[in-house]
Amino acid sequence: MTAAGGIFRPGMLAGRVALVTGGGTGIGLGIASCLAEAGATVAIASRKLEHLEPAAAELRAAGARVSTVQTNVREPEAAARMVEQVAGEHGRLDILVNNAAGNFYAPSATLSPNAWRAVVETDLYGSFYCAQAVYPLMKAQGGGRIVMISMTLHYRGWPLMAHATAAKAGVDALTRTLALEWAADRITVNAVAPGPIPTEGVRKAFTPPDGGAPDIFMDEYAARAIPLRRWGTPADVGQMVAFLAGPAGEWITGAIVVVDGGSWLACGRP
Ligand code: NAP
Repeated sequence: MTAAGGIFRPGMLAGRVALVTGGGTGIGLGIASCLAEAGATVAIASRKLEHLEPAAAELRAAGARVSTVQTNVREPEAAARMVEQVAGEHGRLDILVNNAAGNFYAPSATLSPNAWRAVVETDLYGSFYCAQAVYPLMKAQGGGRIVMISMTLHYRGWPLMAHATAAKAGVDALTRTLALEWAADRITVNAVAPGPIPTEGVRKAFTPPDGGAPDIFMDEYAARAIPLRRWGTPADVGQMVAFLAGPAGEWITGAIVVVDGGSWLACGRP
């Protein structure tokens, strides 16, 4: 997989095995689909079979080689078993995408310790546990690619999302630190920071606790507040992950790539 081989040629990731956490829904499914289209064998992992099985069927129908793993990334032992299972089934593991996350609107003053833990442990601890679990395997294989899925809300702060913004700020720090620690093992560690993408998950997360608020995912809002004038799609993120996982990403590590149509920079300005 060298830069000289060109980027985005058909079968660019042929022979590679990718693991996408949270790969059964939303952005994770879009990432799994882009990696599979680029030729990778893909394992999708999350807690609920009702998310994984229909997603795997959809990917297979499009010609992908896919397996599923039921796991909870909040538990380090479960993350280790997930990696063992994928390596056992497919013989190797080249690409890890830490996409699994939880989120919901909640005022900080009354955020319960359990709610705080649920989000921080999924987004931040989970990303660390999964990265740590793949490290020995990638090192033994002579290299690998890790991509974290971050966000941009912590760049300026975002009321009612203290847990998620704190966790993703930690994910950014982890990205840079692991990039430096593991570069000598030819393991790259980068992050993609998506802007607003109206997945089912984010629609639920952005419903304020008092309910009854209008759906913010209206096209008029996108036309007004997103400089590139549309909502993002899971494929927008998936293509960037494929870029970082492919030959073009060979000499990129510690980068946090914002894929958001210019949203955070504009900060709601038309
Ligand atoms: P989503 O569909 O709700 O995705 C979250 C995924 O994580 C689900 O598939 C869920 O599956 C899995 N998950 C949650 N807790 C888990 C756990 N403990 N162990 C294993 N898997 C777990 O939401 P999304 O919008 O696609 O978000 C995907 C990623 O993009 C997240 O990292 C999110 O922070 C980031 N992001 C999204 C947006 C956006 O606008 N959509 C913007 C910025 C960043 P199970 O329920 O089956 O476990």
